[in-house]
Amino acid sequence: MGKERKVILSGNRPTGRLHIGHLFGVLGNWAQLQSEYDTYFEVADWHALTTRYQDTASMKKDIEDMVIDWLSAGISPEKSVIFVQSHIKEHAELHILFSMLVSLSRLLRNPTLKEYVAEKQTLKLKTEKKTLNKIAENITQKVFSEGEKREEVLKGKIKEHVLSELQGIFSQDTEIPYGEIVNYGFLGYPVLQAADILIYRAHVVPIGKDQLPHLELTREIARRFNFLYGEVFPIPEPVLNEFAKVPGTDGRKMSKSYNNTILIGEDTKDLKKKIMSAYTDPKKIKKNDPGHPDTCPIFHYHMIFNKENSDMIKEECIKGIRGCVQCKKEVFEKIDAFMEPYREKRYELEEKRELIWDIIKEGDKKAREKTKETMELVREKMKIDY
Ligand code: SF4
Repeated sequence: MGKERKVILSGNRPTGRLHIGHLFGVLGNWAQLQSEYDTYFEVADWHALTTRYQDTASMKKDIEDMVIDWLSAGISPEKSVIFVQSHIKEHAELHILFSMLVSLSRLLRNPTLKEYVAEKQTLKLKTEKKTLNKIAENITQKVFSEGEKREEVLKGKIKEHVLSELQGIFSQDTEIPYGEIVNYGFLGYPVLQAADILIYRAHVVPIGKDQLPHLELTREIARRFNFLYGEVFPIPEPVLNEFAKVPGTDGRKMSKSYNNTILIGEDTKDLKKKIMSAYTDPKKIKKNDPGHPDTCPIFHYHMIFNKENSDMIKEECIKGIRGCVQCKKEVFEKIDAFMEPYREKRYELEEKRELIWDIIKEGDKKAREKTKETMELVREKMKIDY
C-alpha cells in the first residue's frame, strides 16, 4: 500500500471571473499541487457574505464564473474536490465549537480587521472633510456677496474659521467604534477559516504572506483543541505563494476594484481595447524618446507572453527605436494567441453551466464524507456525541 497523501485546503471567495494575476498566481500553483496532494478547493461563499451580505443577487453566477476559470486553468474535478462552503453545514458546526476557544481580544488583534477598520475610517474622514468644506463654503457665500476682490480675502479667512469650528465639533466623532463598522460575521471570519481548514484535517495550506496571521490563529485553535480534548487535528503548515505580480493595465496591482484587469479567456475585441489603451511610460511620447520599460506594464506582459523577445524589446525601448503603439500591437497578438485555449474551454463550459453544478455536487459529496468523519471524531473527543 502506498503512503497516504497529505491534504491541502485552499479556496477563494466567489467574485466572478478571474484575471491573469490569479492564473499566474494561485491557480497555477493549485494545478501543480493537485498531483502531489489530496486537494480540496473551496468556493468560500460564506466568507464572501461577511462583506457582501447586501449584494447577493449575482452570487450564483459569480460562483459559476469562478469555477469555470478554475477548470479552464487546469483544476481537475478528477484530481481535486471542488465544493461550495455553504453546502457543507459541518463547517458551521465546527465554527461554533471553535468560537468557544478564541478570545474576543485575540480576534480584535487580527491585522485584516485593523486594516478594514482603518480603511473605513479614512473614507469617513475624507467624506466628512469634503462635506464640511462645502458647508463652510456655503456659509461664507451667504455672508458675502461675490465679486469684490477685497471681500475675497475676508471670505477666505471666514471660511477658514468656520471650517475649523465645524471640524472641532465633528472631530469627537471621527473614531468610529469597531462595533459600527464590523459585523459579527466579519470579526469571526478567521475562526470560520480555521474550521474550513481543520475540518479536512489539512496538513498544508497554500497562502500569501499577508494571510500568515490567519493561519497562525488556525494553528493556535488546533493546538488548543488537541490539548483540551485530545489529538484530532494536524497543525497545518503554510506553503507560501511566491509568484511575480502581474501589473494591471494602469500599472497598479491587477485588481477588479481598480478596473485594470485582463480576464482569463478575455474576448479578442475587449483584450485589444484594454491593451491598446494601457498605461505606458508617460515620458515616452514619441517613438524616438528613450523609454523606461521596467515601469511599463506592457513590457511586463512581454516578459510573460513574449519572453524570447523581451531583451530585444527592452533595449529598443531604452534606445528610442521602438514605438509604444507597435509594442502594444505585438504583445496583444501574443496574449490573444495565449488566451485561445482558455477562451475555448470557457465558451464550452458557459454553454452548459449545469455541468458546473454537477461537478460541485460530486465535490460536495466527497467533502461531506470527510467532514462528517471529522465531526464525529470532534463530538466524541468533546464528549458531546449524545
Ligand atoms: S516601447 Fe513598449 S515597453 Fe517601451 S514604454 Fe512603450 S509600450 Fe512600454
